[in-house]
Amino acid sequence: MVLPIITYPNKILRQPAEPVTFPLSKEMVKLTQDMVDTVRKADGIGLAAPQVGKSVKLIIVNLEKSGVPTLVLYNPKIVTKSFVKTEIEEGCLSIPGVFGNVKRPKKVTIEAQTAEGKTVQFTDDGWVARVAQHEIDHINGRLIIDLIKKYTQGAEIVKEWRTKKLL
Ligand SMILES: [Zn+2]
Repeated sequence: MVLPIITYPNKILRQPAEPVTFPLSKEMVKLTQDMVDTVRKADGIGLAAPQVGKSVKLIIVNLEKSGVPTLVLYNPKIVTKSFVKTEIEEGCLSIPGVFGNVKRPKKVTIEAQTAEGKTVQFTDDGWVARVAQHEIDHINGRLIIDLIKKYTQGAEIVKEWRTKKLL
């Protein structure tokens, strides 16, 4: 089931999310499937649970179009990150019309739990690393508008939020 995507300045996007517990509840299994449906439908490359109104630590990395199977990560966190950073233009399904360059560590090791509650670690220095960092930010209440120094699109939208003290 495709869920509506919450957009900024909805406060849930600023709230640190709660850890997911195991075994997964029926609701969590359903939420996972719905989030996969939602990110595919939105043609997005990633989605975090707060973006569909659930303040829990669950993210989806959807790079199917680049040949990477869809990743479902519970309680993900970055355990190590490279000193080397890359600057890439990012957008966000929750902040439509706003784009800008974001600097992030190029290579990260991420620890997360699978649907079975098994703890796994993996390292990546490509798109998975980039998208996972964006989504992990979401579950910590951090957004690209906190990180963008130079906007490539939608600077006026952000300026208005700043004027209204919504940023
Ligand atoms: Zn986002």
